[in-house]
Amino acid sequence: MHKFGPILGGAFNFVDQNLFGGKLPITLHDNKQDYSQLKPADQCTKINYPKPDGKLSFDKLSSVFISNTNHEEGQPCHLKLKDSSLPIVRNLPIFAEPAQRYCPAGVYEVNEGGSGAFFQINSQNCLHCKACDIKNPSQNINWTAPEGAGGPTVLLLYQSSASR
Ligand code: SF4
Repeated sequence: MHKFGPILGGAFNFVDQNLFGGKLPITLHDNKQDYSQLKPADQCTKINYPKPDGKLSFDKLSSVFISNTNHEEGQPCHLKLKDSSLPIVRNLPIFAEPAQRYCPAGVYEVNEGGSGAFFQINSQNCLHCKACDIKNPSQNINWTAPEGAGGPTVLLLYQSSASR
């Protein structure tokens, strides 16, 4: 779908998944890096999502809470910025700092302080999906393993039951 768009790509996907059971005897490659495909914010229409209703849709932090995500207090931030100025100097003016939106856990925030906008990382909420490491348009975020068994407990339980 990334290569051919939603209609042609969707049709190809339908044939592969539904008629061939995912075993179509050809493989299509898409060699473009995901992070380099991001369009500048001024070329996009802002999407106004409806507020979560608390029944079928939920706010990010409620979902983080039920994932039992936990990281020991005081440990070093496991989300490393190669250049701490890039989120505000480059990503904010060009891409409206997309980390605020692609992170499913609301880890990244742009806040206003006395000396202007600053980038805040709430690493204790990280769900370890690694989207920030892959999607950041400046390739500026390096996800590293946190200390101990920190992270989403639900995923750990799933992984341990899946490995049985
Ligand atoms: S790994 Fe996922 S949850 Fe953690 S900060 Fe990056 S995007 Fe957010």
